[in-house]
Amino acid sequence: MTDKILIVEDEMSIRELLKFNLQKERYTVVEAEDGITGVSLAKSLLPDLILLDLMLPGMDGLDVCRTLKSYQATSGIPIIMLTAKGEEIDKVIGLELGADDYLTKPFSTRELIARVKAVLRRSHKDSQPDGELVIGRLKLNFSRYEVYIGNEKLELTPKEYELLKLFATNVGKVFSREQLLEKVWGYEYYGDTRTVDVHVRHLRAKLANDAVIADAIETVRGVGYRLSDAATVRKS
Ligand code: CA
Repeated sequence: MTDKILIVEDEMSIRELLKFNLQKERYTVVEAEDGITGVSLAKSLLPDLILLDLMLPGMDGLDVCRTLKSYQATSGIPIIMLTAKGEEIDKVIGLELGADDYLTKPFSTRELIARVKAVLRRSHKDSQPDGELVIGRLKLNFSRYEVYIGNEKLELTPKEYELLKLFATNVGKVFSREQLLEKVWGYEYYGDTRTVDVHVRHLRAKLANDAVIADAIETVRGVGYRLSDAATVRKS
């Protein structure tokens, strides 16, 4: 799955330039011409990265940044601010607001791609098992062994937690019951594979107040289970 990048920029020529160069690097590109559209696309598509122009008509880049950082599902999405020369103060404000980096126009293609890659690399590292993983409204905190749906903390047993963690860190990948027994219960466990079914059922029940996530733990007939890609795309 390629990384999805949302461009929020009102100048068509810059938008086209960004799109062209990002697509050449095989990123999936989504565009918004103004801040309000940008916020709504960010919420519905949960892109991997947002390139956000500072000076936008109506809702400007700072407001967009502030809004996205205050909304749980989008707060973890890295943002690179696009600024014009001479907007030094705004740059700093942008970074204080949680923007991850900035690019000053005019920028070279090389600089753009280097920054994009660096920010994505950093953000993917953050979602590795010693930090947090956010999938739609679902959030796993690996160091505290905590799971949240929105602001609500879920009470999971250690095995339910391990199962969910395995699914969540391997979205789309199907695991057989035997593999799940091996990975979650350990090699020494020679249990009945129905143990897995029971735990998955309990896990789904606990996730049921978020129908998208609960339904996303799919039974793949004759194979096993997986967390479907649907979990990563949440309409709001
Ligand atoms: Ca602009």
